[in-house]
Amino acid sequence: ATPMSVMVGVGRGAKEGVLVKNAEMLEIMEKVDTVVVDKTGTLTQGRPEVTTIETFGQWKQADVLVIAAALESHSEHPFAQSVVRRAEEPIPSATDFDSITGQGIRGTVDGHDVLVGNSKLISSTLAASTSIDEVNQKAIGYQRDGATVVYVVIDGELAGMISITDPIKESTPSALKTLHELGLRVVMLTGDAEATAKSVAAELGIDEYHAGVSPEEKLSFIRKQKEQGKVVAMAGDGINDAPALAEANVGIAMGTGTGVAIESAGVTLVGGDLRGVAAAANLSRKTMRNIR
Ligand code: ADP
Ligand code: MG
Repeated sequence: ATPMSVMVGVGRGAKEGVLVKNAEMLEIMEKVDTVVVDKTGTLTQGRPEVTTIETFGQWKQADVLVIAAALESHSEHPFAQSVVRRAEEPIPSATDFDSITGQGIRGTVDGHDVLVGNSKLISSTLAASTSIDEVNQKAIGYQRDGATVVYVVIDGELAGMISITDPIKESTPSALKTLHELGLRVVMLTGDAEATAKSVAAELGIDEYHAGVSPEEKLSFIRKQKEQGKVVAMAGDGINDAPALAEANVGIAMGTGTGVAIESAGVTLVGGDLRGVAAAANLSRKTMRNIR
């Protein structure tokens, strides 16, 4: 390759907020046919807010919130932070807490055994009196509107359901439009529930999505695509998708994401603007054409 035009390409990218790590990344980017995107923090703003709190049994909203917040204050997940922001001080302290990546967090609060997270996390711990199907049925209305439902289970009983919305980034629809125009296949992967994923995918015109995907499954999805001869770019914020980012032919980190993601990524998008993926693809095509 001719280093000069590649360097010009890299410089041009930087001006557009697309930081390309090295010449090789620009070369591979030209061959990419599949763009995999994470949902939370990549397609969405990653600044979620609690919208509703539904409680069950004798539980009151304020109590469910502080108990959930006690655990969530130990989680780095953006959803956790939204719960903490919504709870009224003082937030009790939690002990023996354990974060379950891509599912939620569990621990002890005021002598209660508490779980805060998705249906996968709570399903095995619910008391026999509560059926998970019934619980899921309650959540589906929120999920169909694209919200994430976080369950709060206290001593084996469902105490609350917190619905959280994370609006789609303003730039996302046009970013996806350009990617489709470039003939690229776009796949959304998310650890979130099926109904939530379906709603977001439909709103954005993404035909292919996979929900309830763990960080390991995100990684194996990428690996399988590569085995099938696909050249894959994966865009994510590094929260629960860092292994997948590292496995992709081109890892694309949101500049708003974690430091680890940015360090290991081939491309970083300043400000987390997904339009940079299309810009990088365009840039690589032009640069490689100049070389030939
Ligand atoms: P995405 O793939 O969309 O980025 P994640 O893999 O980060 O989503 O999370 C998957 C799901 O796990 C979330 O939709 C949420 O239901 C649940 N979850 C993960 N961490 C937490 C937490 N700290 N508190 C509550 N729920 C959580
Ligand atoms: Mg994520």
